[in-house]
Amino acid sequence: MFYKTLNNKVKMPQLGFGVYQTPVDETKRAVLDAIEVGYRAFDTAQAYGNEAGVGEAIKESGLPREEFFITTKIWISNAGYEKAKASIEESLQKLQTDYIDLLLIHQPFGDYYGTYRAMEEAYKAGKLRAIGVSNFSPDRFIDLQHFVEIKPAVNQIETHIFQQQKVAKTYLDKYNCQIESWGPFAEGRNDFFNTPTLKEIGEKYGKSVAQVALRFLLQSDVVVIPKSVRKERMQENFNIFDFELTAEEMATIQDLDQGKSLFFDHQAPETAEFFMTLVKK
Ligand code: NAP
Repeated sequence: MFYKTLNNKVKMPQLGFGVYQTPVDETKRAVLDAIEVGYRAFDTAQAYGNEAGVGEAIKESGLPREEFFITTKIWISNAGYEKAKASIEESLQKLQTDYIDLLLIHQPFGDYYGTYRAMEEAYKAGKLRAIGVSNFSPDRFIDLQHFVEIKPAVNQIETHIFQQQKVAKTYLDKYNCQIESWGPFAEGRNDFFNTPTLKEIGEKYGKSVAQVALRFLLQSDVVVIPKSVRKERMQENFNIFDFELTAEEMATIQDLDQGKSLFFDHQAPETAEFFMTLVKK
């Protein structure tokens, strides 16, 4: 396993396992499979509805809590100091743990400054080992990090071969914040798993498109959390430590960047309106 050292010296595995869109009744089984494969870092969120499944699997594995790195995220409906504070306790309870390794603000909407204050407080109380954000564009990130005491350790943003986040990464590096990819396969969009460049490179190493895509992100200093409900794919996505892309191959893959989202632009007015529809009045 490779690790990244965060701005507060906490070590984070560079490869983890995501459970977005993993059905609630399948989460425990999927996470137990992933633990068997070797994953120790898990990424869930209040909005996914499956924090409890992650917690149950970790308990049932019988492995010591310290072996795991658990990330969860505060949803927009829990934004603001009081609600966020209560939601941290609820997440701790669902995950059956005394502390969360990394807590993120899921979306840059609502009173996220209030949310962040609650996170800073819980961090100081030892309930969180690291805190950060997700889906923050560089302008919002710079603003937040300037006005808070505990600087965000991670920004989890859409990052894959077609959206490499070159500009965002420059600023995250500048402020010593770790970039973490969501959607490392773009959830299969753009005929991802048939990308010819990755197929060709993969043939040389006996590796799949998925493995080359993940390896490219590892070598780009990005933390990755691929999702799968199938054990054979979990295994495939984990077997990326026994080959290395050359500088030339890295440059070829860098050229695939389209510099824009395959999902939604967080700064677009229609995106903001869409997220507002998800929050109950
Ligand atoms: P992803 O990891 O890019 O893609 C997952 C899809 O790829 C699933 O359909 C999966 O199908 C398939 N897949 C996985 N491994 C494969 C392989 N080796 N070959 C072929 N197909 C494969 O998408 P994601 O789940 O959206 O992103 C990963 C994690 O990032 C999430 O689970 C979540 O934890 C996090 N995330 C965060 C945000 C955010 O707003 N912060 C947004 C999205 C995601 P099967 O399951 O059927 O194998």
